[in-house]
Amino acid sequence: MTTADAKKIVLLPGDGIGPEIVGVAVRVLKDCAAKFGHLFEFAEFPFGGSAIDAAGEPLPPETLAACKSADAILLGAVGGPKWDAQPIGKRPESGLLALRQALGLYINLRPIDLRPSLASLTPLRSDRAKNVHIDFVRELAGDIYFGKHHVEPHASGERAVDEAVYTTGEIERVAQYAFARAEARTGRLASVDKANVMSTSQLWRRTVTRMAAAHPKVKLEHLYVDNAAMQLVLAPAQFDVILTSNMFGDILSDLGAALVGSIGLIPSMSSGRGPSLYEPIHGSAPSLAGKDVACPVGTILSASMMLRESFGLAREAEWIESAVDRLFVNGVRTPDIVGPGTTRVGCQEFGERLLAEMAEAPAPSKTSNV
Ligand code: NAD
Repeated sequence: MTTADAKKIVLLPGDGIGPEIVGVAVRVLKDCAAKFGHLFEFAEFPFGGSAIDAAGEPLPPETLAACKSADAILLGAVGGPKWDAQPIGKRPESGLLALRQALGLYINLRPIDLRPSLASLTPLRSDRAKNVHIDFVRELAGDIYFGKHHVEPHASGERAVDEAVYTTGEIERVAQYAFARAEARTGRLASVDKANVMSTSQLWRRTVTRMAAAHPKVKLEHLYVDNAAMQLVLAPAQFDVILTSNMFGDILSDLGAALVGSIGLIPSMSSGRGPSLYEPIHGSAPSLAGKDVACPVGTILSASMMLRESFGLAREAEWIESAVDRLFVNGVRTPDIVGPGTTRVGCQEFGERLLAEMAEAPAPSKTSNV
């Protein structure tokens, strides 16, 4: 194998707990490469608040150029109180929006699974907490995140405006992915909107309804977002794939994360035109930064998603994910998921124990020649 065969992985640790959790995930990827005979090249770039401090902007040109030519990108999180006073457009989070836009990332897949080993963590009544396996497909390139924002003087003080925009094409391309995802699973697709109030949602509902004719195996239903929030708590097992807009997907998937134990557990993939980007769904958790208490599992599972989705390395992903499950079964827990009879460990120790667990697994045979 030559370096020409290497997969180029750009690392964007970002702010807050980002560097700690990405550091653990990179060690997992390195062990995976060594065990399976793959070559992964890592290159780290400034991004978010730390890039504002270092280079004056959240998405410096060299960071963007590296992302564009990467095979995949692993991101920690951005943002924090240090930069909260910055206006919209100059904040760390603006760098993330700009990166998503520049790479044409319009699909955000967020799998929410209640793992049997963590079933006791759900806040739900036990009869409601069965078979929770929901794939959130969140639209990522439109909606209020990319509309115009402005604040102007007003007789009462100020007037603020945020514009939400969707086009038919933007809805079709993400809905196409969600229909295919539902077809590959149990065939149930719930499209979530606010069509009783918003014209973007009315376009959303019309477009998704029209597309259903081409997907006869999919049982499509529509829910208003307020009802969807309630149904997620009352009967989450009714959902398989949930398709929704950028803002509603952001909010509902955090609710979903709470149902399965911790926001620290949930990975995500953002994909579209350019290289895919993998990141945990949580933010930079400023109050946890530097304390070695953050849960790295969402980032580790983002890395395993990268192996499966971007590099076609399903066995390698399975090797990592099953080791994470065995750690949970053995009661190894970061503080956010610790419970009676389990062992509390920090972020780094979780990583150490995971590497040991992976090393003990039977040596897998080589698969593809990445
Ligand atoms: P957050 O996700 O950072 O934290 C929400 C809660 O979850 C906090 O109690 C936090 O301690 C906890 N938490 C988050 N990640 C955890 C982990 N890995 N392990 C254990 N507990 C964890 O959301 P927030 O507090 O609303 O935002 C903090 C900053 O992050 C803000 O600047 C926000 O804009 C930014 N943010 C960034 C992203 C991103 O980079 N994609 C996403 C969301 C928020």
